[in-house]
Amino acid sequence: MEKHILSKSTFIRGLQCSKSLYLYKNFIQLRDKISFEQQAVFNRGNKVGILAQKLFPGGVDASKVKRSDYTAAVSRTTELIKSGVEVIYEAAFQHNKVLVILDILVKNTPNNFPDKSHWDDEWYAYEVKSSTKISHTYLLDASLQYWVITNSGLLLSDMSLITINNKYIRNGEVKLNELFSFTSVKNEVIRNQPKIEENISVSKKVLEQLQIPKIEIGEQCFSPYSCDFMGTCWKLVPANSIFEITGMQKSEQFNLYHSGYKTISEIPEQNNLDKNVNIHVQSFKKGSPMIDTKAISTFLDKAQYPLFFMDFETFMPAVPIYNNTKPYQHIPFQYSLHYKKSTDSKLEHSYFLAEQGQDPRKLFLENLLKDTENIGSILVYDALMERNVLNGLKKDFPEFSHEIDLRLKRFVDLMQPFQERSYYHPLMKNSHSIKNLLHALIPELSYTNLQISNGSMAMVAFEQLQTETDMFKILETRENLEKYCELDTLAMVKVFEILEKEVK
Ligand code: SF4
Repeated sequence: MEKHILSKSTFIRGLQCSKSLYLYKNFIQLRDKISFEQQAVFNRGNKVGILAQKLFPGGVDASKVKRSDYTAAVSRTTELIKSGVEVIYEAAFQHNKVLVILDILVKNTPNNFPDKSHWDDEWYAYEVKSSTKISHTYLLDASLQYWVITNSGLLLSDMSLITINNKYIRNGEVKLNELFSFTSVKNEVIRNQPKIEENISVSKKVLEQLQIPKIEIGEQCFSPYSCDFMGTCWKLVPANSIFEITGMQKSEQFNLYHSGYKTISEIPEQNNLDKNVNIHVQSFKKGSPMIDTKAISTFLDKAQYPLFFMDFETFMPAVPIYNNTKPYQHIPFQYSLHYKKSTDSKLEHSYFLAEQGQDPRKLFLENLLKDTENIGSILVYDALMERNVLNGLKKDFPEFSHEIDLRLKRFVDLMQPFQERSYYHPLMKNSHSIKNLLHALIPELSYTNLQISNGSMAMVAFEQLQTETDMFKILETRENLEKYCELDTLAMVKVFEILEKEVK
């Protein structure tokens, strides 16, 4: 069998951008380093895929041959089918130099799973996604699999996507047939077959070319996935380009770019851009912050000393770990609190970081309520998540509802003056995230030297702790989590002090 030239991932890559496909196949060394977040999504997908295999126990893994030897995996799949194996994991098929690896292939699966009373003699294909929704890309991916499998000679009675059911609430052992949802996509994939055939031939022609396709940067660089050749294609984009204006529609950015307005300084005074974008453009051109002291003073009046500066970290396991939780529910595991009794008093700090291996919610809540029982405003930066977490905890622990409501009433969102542009610094780049704010106002308080430097990393780190057994790694991760969360609230204190200075 000839070596494949397209696979499921390279096919999807080619649909996104033929240059990306060409670079991937011919200049892989130019590929950007995979980000921590992308790796985490990839690992989660693998874990969910392995768990979903248990829906069809007793199967044989066709990929368990020589590593990365796909030809051997295809032969082994054929042998397994011929020898009567009824459940095959990682079943590999190849047709016309296109390779696909299907998560689960099952013979005789009844349509009314798990009732086994209506078994027939046909094959059913299942592709597992760790997402809760079916995207257009998933349908294309399933359509390609259907094309390869059926053209290889195996008739499929049905093709389904297995996704996570976000309504499932864990109670005791995980019930796999409730955690996962099955959606037949056979009709859609059959409708897509001509399109798949056409795109396979387009991609093959791209790969026969002797030169890199001439494709300009565009919206395709971000959709459906962030392209991993941006380091190559985007290197000629100048500093302070219009792409540095966060929150702008990509289509708007590319319209400007392709009309010759490549940098923020080149944007004309008269334009149709949004009010906040124009605030950024003006502030950038002036090179100084725009400050509305009256609005800041009104905001500061809301914050009554003593002040608490509070930040939560949560994690969102795809498969619920604790009873009475849903897939992807925000589970709070850590908070940091800085406390200032008065303008000139010494800053105090307290925090909570849950022990791994146990449901953190109740202890988190009890400690938080105790640490915030004094009077005073509770400053939170972008309070939405903290509010949602506390409202969720009210449902989980109704006995604390009253106390939680008392804390919620004391919330003051420190993001407000920045979101409303009462204080705007050009380095905020039209964003009011705490990270951008810190970079603009207090660059010396940087996250770059921290091992855990953003919320996604904190989420993954705590989730990994649940199964970590190496004591040194546990201690190191806990220390990194503490440093990260503490910096978040210390940053809020400093930001608040800057606002106070402005109105003095
Ligand atoms: S960065 Fe954009 S133009 Fe370059 S390969 Fe990727 S999608 Fe294509």
